[in-house]
Amino acid sequence: MQEKYDYLLVGAGLYSAVFAHAAERAGKSCLVLEKRSHIGGNIHCDTVEGIEVHRYGAHIFHTSNPEVWNFVNRFVTMNRFTNSPVANYKGEMYNLPFNMNTFARMWNIRTPEEALAILNEQRAEITGAPKNLEEQAISLVGRDVYEKLIKGYTEKQWGQACTELPAFIIRRLPVRLTYDNNYFNDRYQGIPEEGYDTLVRKLFGKAEILLNTDYLADKAGWNARAKTVVYTGPIDAYFDYELGALEYRSLRFETETLDTENYQGCAVVNYTEREIPYTRIIEHKHFVFGTQPKTVITREYPADWKPGLEPYYPVNNEKNQARYALYRERGEREPVIFGGRLGEYRYYDMDKVIESAMEKARALGLPVGEEA
Ligand code: FAD
Ligand code: UDP
Repeated sequence: MQEKYDYLLVGAGLYSAVFAHAAERAGKSCLVLEKRSHIGGNIHCDTVEGIEVHRYGAHIFHTSNPEVWNFVNRFVTMNRFTNSPVANYKGEMYNLPFNMNTFARMWNIRTPEEALAILNEQRAEITGAPKNLEEQAISLVGRDVYEKLIKGYTEKQWGQACTELPAFIIRRLPVRLTYDNNYFNDRYQGIPEEGYDTLVRKLFGKAEILLNTDYLADKAGWNARAKTVVYTGPIDAYFDYELGALEYRSLRFETETLDTENYQGCAVVNYTEREIPYTRIIEHKHFVFGTQPKTVITREYPADWKPGLEPYYPVNNEKNQARYALYRERGEREPVIFGGRLGEYRYYDMDKVIESAMEKARALGLPVGEEA
């Protein structure tokens, strides 16, 4: 180990990996600290029975940004996987996202015109700008779809009533009057054939990585080891929760190997009724069209976050945003760069994390994307 590095990167997730790649291209040295026992952060996978298992939930790469797409394809080969999850509501199977397949099954209709007539009738319940997720959902897809496919799923996922949640969460999902089950509208989509860990490993390149190492256990000591610190852990933890804790949602994953070739016929099945405690079951082999004789499935249970659990999702409601704004102000006065889903307290997808890291690197004069 060197005495002093150009960059100390806290966290070995995607944000740090992209940043490290740019730094190394500029001939800078990087030391990476990761408190978990592996690199990759939440995109990390294990291999079980020859199957790549998404250890922290289903990760499908999608983007509309050609720079980001070309960038990742330099390190891994993206397959042709298209996410088309199915919702199970009390045994009734509906295609997602909300499209003509969903509406045809819901209302026994056939044409976009018929669907639109019902949608418009049900949407009329909401007048004015939607004030919360419930109003937003009904104004997008009407009450029937809301009650069967959104309400139960959302309330267990977030542990709050839909009337208390911000509208933007549901605007992530496309609504279409075509028979198109692609969950995303983005131009590019796929899963790395070599796995996400390969992507991250290649990006980190020659950076030195210390696993099982918590930066916050000796912040000052570690800070002295580098000219610049990039921190991708939770911003409130960095400040020892001095302005109060931000809220997160956590998850519990229950993974099982089954002696069957094909358990559910699809990578992701959402369980949208409130009474089933998990939100979805992932069957990992289907992400890469696996043909192994066995299969591995994971049930995803939402959980309240408390210290000691992994903070997976920031809860971006008004109260937390106001608190985060105070932390961010403090962060700006600190000689540290805060980045990523936890450092920026944003519900970022992988492509957005890559964009954010590239933007930061670029602002520091480091080469990124095509230049790198
Ligand atoms: P992270 O991956 O969280 O990395 C931060 C790292 O910092 C962690 O490894 C953590 O252990 C470490 N760390 C924290 N504090 C410390 C400390 N004090 N000392 C040392 N290390 C520390 N995105 C998509 O594009 N498509 C998807 O389908 C998708 N599905 C998702 C499903 C789930 C269930 C979740 C939770 C997220 C999903 N995402 C998806 C989002 C994706 O996981 C993130 O955008 C991305 O992984 C964030 O990268 P990051 O580097 O910001 O954070
Ligand atoms: N959602 C829903 N029913 C579903 C799938 C999603 O109501 O079957 C809602 C839910 O509120 C969720 C949001 O849409 O939090 C965003 O879904 P997405 O699949 O993008 O969530 P993520 O993959 O980030 O967990």
